[in-house]
Amino acid sequence: MKREKPDHPVLVTRSSLPPLEEYVEMLKPLWDSAWLTNMGQYHKEFAAQLKEYLGVPNLELFVNGHTALELTLQAMNLSGEVITTPFTFASTAHAIVRNGLTPVFCDINPEDYTLDADRLEALITDRTTAVVPVHVYGNICDVERIGEIARRHDLKVIYDAAHTFGETLDGQGVGTFGDASMFSFHATKVFHSIEGGAVAFRDPALASVLYELKNFGITDYEKVDSVGANGKMNEFQAAMGICNLRYVDGEIEKRRALAMRYRQRLEGVKGIRLCRENPRIRYNYAYMPVVFDGYRKDRDQVFADLAAHDIHARKYFYPCVNNYDCYRDRFSEADTPVAARISRQVLTLPLYADLEPEIVDMICDIIL
Ligand SMILES: *Cc1c(COP(=O)(O)O)cnc(C)c1O
Repeated sequence: MKREKPDHPVLVTRSSLPPLEEYVEMLKPLWDSAWLTNMGQYHKEFAAQLKEYLGVPNLELFVNGHTALELTLQAMNLSGEVITTPFTFASTAHAIVRNGLTPVFCDINPEDYTLDADRLEALITDRTTAVVPVHVYGNICDVERIGEIARRHDLKVIYDAAHTFGETLDGQGVGTFGDASMFSFHATKVFHSIEGGAVAFRDPALASVLYELKNFGITDYEKVDSVGANGKMNEFQAAMGICNLRYVDGEIEKRRALAMRYRQRLEGVKGIRLCRENPRIRYNYAYMPVVFDGYRKDRDQVFADLAAHDIHARKYFYPCVNNYDCYRDRFSEADTPVAARISRQVLTLPLYADLEPEIVDMICDIIL
């Protein structure tokens, strides 16, 4: 008989876990050495494995993605204004503001929801020092045009690549674009180390600066060179990362099959819009965003219908960052009308490696 409701609540995501024994095996050496954090053996191994997996020249690990981004902006010695997008997670703009910099919000393009390169140049002033674009839902920004504009105006480009772990554009690792790219290994992401993050970067000289900043600015036992923070990834996180990295390709493959199943049902339905797949990109299928634009039910109605079946989609990203309570007095959503509209139309549907295909069918039935 066809089920009406899943037999357990379905959340938008569910963390992938390696076999428990495999993780426990990894913990034994930690009990022997009692070296639990401060750049131990797993920290080294994990960083080396990630560098190879992501195909990036330089990489530094962090306790989480947000700290990675915040400290990277600090490492670049920026001042004045930094152009970013309001269609992102709180972390992106907070990292700018917490560095004493002024965010300038650029609207997004309505095709893939990333920073609209056509609108970038008009926002550049003599105070602009950097651009922080976001690869949204696994859609890679127009890195060529952003790079060209940034070079012409001598701006740094730091990508928030939290959604694009392991992706490539024309076979090239997504972390190789711009001056630096931040990846998040939070438990809810395609790939995780419980909490965790990394920055991939172009200039090898940045390595020692980032290393210092994540360790209080300490350079030697009796020497502190900069006003750093504590951003160190610990050995338990690194061990989880190493375990999960063994399985991530299979997890992405399972996500791909589920995303295709959604697509088969929802693609081409009047008033429902899915992201167009760019054949140049190898995707990680991090999210399943659906835009309801003139559909007979609006986004909030679909959200409520699913919730009534104990299926919990997410209004991700809603609200736009420039409409947060903490930013509303300084910024206005009206300045970024495309982002404002999409944030009211988009719903991200449950998608994770172990989601049962029947639940995908059930979700599509409810929507349709
Ligand atoms: C998850 C995420 C972050 C922050 O990463 P954490 O590891 O949770 O600190 C930043 N930006 C975006 C777009 C994210 O999705």
